[in-house]
Amino acid sequence: MARLIDGKAIAAAVRADVKARVARFQERTGRAPGLDVVLVGDDPASHVYVRNKEKAALEVGMAGTVHRLPASTSETELLALVDELNRAPNVDGILVQFPVPSQIRQSEVIRAIDPRKDVDGLNPLNVGALFSGEPALVPCTPRGCMRLIAEVAPDVTGAHAVVVGRSNLVGKPVAALLLAANATVTIAHSRTRNLADVCRSADILVAAVGRARLIRGEWIRPGATVIDVGMNRDETGKLCGDVDFANAEPVAGAITPVPGGVGPMTIAMLLENTLLAAERRASK
Ligand code: NAP
Repeated sequence: MARLIDGKAIAAAVRADVKARVARFQERTGRAPGLDVVLVGDDPASHVYVRNKEKAALEVGMAGTVHRLPASTSETELLALVDELNRAPNVDGILVQFPVPSQIRQSEVIRAIDPRKDVDGLNPLNVGALFSGEPALVPCTPRGCMRLIAEVAPDVTGAHAVVVGRSNLVGKPVAALLLAANATVTIAHSRTRNLADVCRSADILVAAVGRARLIRGEWIRPGATVIDVGMNRDETGKLCGDVDFANAEPVAGAITPVPGGVGPMTIAMLLENTLLAAERRASK
């Protein structure tokens, strides 16, 4: 039976640590780190995500504003707000909740955010810095994956890591982080041949696909560490990951559940990124 990697408990520990560091930051600088979140339109899921981020930031003592803009907002209007937040001295982190309505180009918004305040780590300068092995603001979910891996495998040197999925948000940055940590990395995707064999060769398997239970128990190498990023609904409406947990768990060495694995780490890492951005700006 695999060791269960408890993302909920690990995220709670991260948040408690951030809270203590926020208090020290405030003592030193006379202000709290500030996270401003921008939400455009009426997507119900986005409203829930933003409320959760707002609540989590308040809980650790951060300042900040949620800017709720109508669905009719133009790209020019949104970029003007981003520019204002880039220049605001008390704003350390800027997060624009995606997706944005179709009249706004996501790529232009990402480019417009000051890389020093880009707590989602998606600005091309931060992406380039990550791949160059320089200090950067790194996307939250991939950082969360690395933290979970570190719980069970503090040193991944020489391990074969397979990342299934190559999105800019999850797959590619997770692969870059594993490479930076000296793993040997394979990135698999929808055109990969013999995905089962590729997965079977993994000491560390990260699944970031978005297909319910695509990765079967017999694809898992005995003893492997399995990190399941997927958040899917199965045919009965039940929340499940990309990995067939029931059949993978008896084979894996360690595994994250869904829910309660990677999910809770994302907001915890957002808070950590905001604090990091604040500390870097304050030390300049
Ligand atoms: P995405 O942008 O849709 O990317 C999915 C990736 O999976 C693509 O690279 C795609 O390959 C690959 N893929 C699709 N079908 C495949 C198949 N049959 N075999 C192998 N690879 C396949 O998704 P994402 O944003 O990375 O998110 C992935 C999952 O993580 C989703 O379930 C999402 O909800 C979840 N997620 C969770 C969190 C969290 O906080 N827990 C955060 C972000 C995302 P191609 O590139 O070839 O198309």
